[in-house]
Amino acid sequence: MEKTMRGLGVSPGLAIGGVRRMGAGVGEPPAVHVGRREVPRELARIRPAVEAVADDLTARGERGGGEARAVLDAQAMMARDPALLDDVEQRITSGSGAERAVYDAFGAYRELLAGAGEYLAGRVADLDDVRDRIVARLLGVPMPGVPDSDEPYVLIARDLAPADTALLDPALVLGFVTEQGGPTSHSAILARALGVPAVVALPGAGALAEGTVVAVDGSTGEVYVDPEPARRAELTAAAARTAAAAAAATGPGATRDGHRVPLLANVGGPADVPAALAAGAEGVGLFRTEFLFLDDSRRAPSRETQVRAYREVLAAFPDSRVVVRVLDAGADKPLDFLTPAAEPNPALGVRGLRALLDHPEVLRAQLTALGEAAEGLPVALDVMAPMVADRADARAFADACAQTGLRAKAGAMVEIPAAALRARSILREADFLSLGTNDLAQYAFAADRQAGALARLQDPWQPALLDLVALSATAARDAGKGCGVCGEAAADPLLACVLVGLGVTSLSMSAPAIPHVRAELARHPLARCEEAARAARAAETADDARRAAGAVLSGHGPVSPGEPRSPS
Ligand code: PEP
Ligand code: MG
Repeated sequence: MEKTMRGLGVSPGLAIGGVRRMGAGVGEPPAVHVGRREVPRELARIRPAVEAVADDLTARGERGGGEARAVLDAQAMMARDPALLDDVEQRITSGSGAERAVYDAFGAYRELLAGAGEYLAGRVADLDDVRDRIVARLLGVPMPGVPDSDEPYVLIARDLAPADTALLDPALVLGFVTEQGGPTSHSAILARALGVPAVVALPGAGALAEGTVVAVDGSTGEVYVDPEPARRAELTAAAARTAAAAAAATGPGATRDGHRVPLLANVGGPADVPAALAAGAEGVGLFRTEFLFLDDSRRAPSRETQVRAYREVLAAFPDSRVVVRVLDAGADKPLDFLTPAAEPNPALGVRGLRALLDHPEVLRAQLTALGEAAEGLPVALDVMAPMVADRADARAFADACAQTGLRAKAGAMVEIPAAALRARSILREADFLSLGTNDLAQYAFAADRQAGALARLQDPWQPALLDLVALSATAARDAGKGCGVCGEAAADPLLACVLVGLGVTSLSMSAPAIPHVRAELARHPLARCEEAARAARAAETADDARRAAGAVLSGHGPVSPGEPRSPS
């Protein structure tokens, strides 16, 4: 019988398919003693399990190619290592159960590797993965990590780390459902970037059995378990209507009455450019430069490396605006050369601009590299600083830009409530504002953005967050300057209309969201967006704000004087 579960929809669209679970770690198997008569049976289980795991690793390597192939082939060899297998078999002969014998034999080998110099010690994680795979196979539980499947599936996980998602094949993953993770968690951001429907913070998702068919509505957060044919048809038709509307709306972002709102893309490097261009991005509103350097965080990237990566992105957007954020290191994105090693509370520590002001040479080098990258290109380069707290921060950043002779507007991100409250003062130094609503919500509600349990407080529809947006946008309008949104809030089509109603002048988001936001914006005149914004701010809760704005935008709520009620 059909059952409905409710989480938080964080990436719109519909996915219908069988569930595959992200395998959790298998843990340490209990030490069971097997009697002499059971030894042959236990021994007979080992080789088939080892062979199956090794074959699976080899097959994955063939599919992945390149570096992945080398790593997976090496793991297959570890699985088949004759000395290791001998050790396992001896342990079984001495009375150990198969799972425990594998665990202990790999444990002994692990000690050897860990003490054998930096390169081999680095293989310990690979060895542990092989051990867990063999133990999982013996126990008959899902393999740890991303499921291996030739069939498209809906991925169920506790939460997804960036490393997990890097292994996902977007052609196979129809959608994500996670138990943890808030709307601004990595799972949500990555799902949007991949353009797959996703629901996060869904308690009980982990209990769905492998293969159960679900329909995931990434807009409403509803997950239908064993959906009835009528439900499937209804959801599919609604998704087709949304997709058709998104495809039909083309051209620059604007409200129905022609109020222009540039729709820009969030990118992490050159690899994200093609999707941004395909979605019709009018430029880049947030280039997260630290993403380029997270994999080797020990040393600052060289000038050449930086210039090359920046130039590739800048060259892709001729005659367009590209807003580059200087390195936002710290908290969940540590860069060893910039951020302190151990802080009691890194999200409230030396991160973002604070770290750069402690290392002015790194900031100078980045600004210089940006200037060089933009040379001769017809791009409108803007730069902005993350985690600006007050006017002194904004001035320090503007001064650094001026000192390097960079010809670019210097903006401030509004991510700290103090910056929104005193936006007027920050605008005396900054050329523009860009609202980072992910961090702004985190700090306004004292709610860690990675914590699924706090998703309610991370909801960008929270009226208090909308108040902070309104303060910033009004201050910018009075100063005659721009105020964009580049946090995840901009990717929600209804909320995007509300943000425009609050006075926001540009919206930047993951590329797949752009057509949906463009289509929704084009349905409403500016006055209606303003009305929706008033209705949302008058609400007491995020849900009520969403409902109130939704009612206005669907033509069922209060209407501005003089505006005809239209079904649109
Ligand atoms: C934000 O905080 O909203 C933002 C855009 O920055 P990031 O998500 O990279 O912290
Ligand atoms: Mg941020």
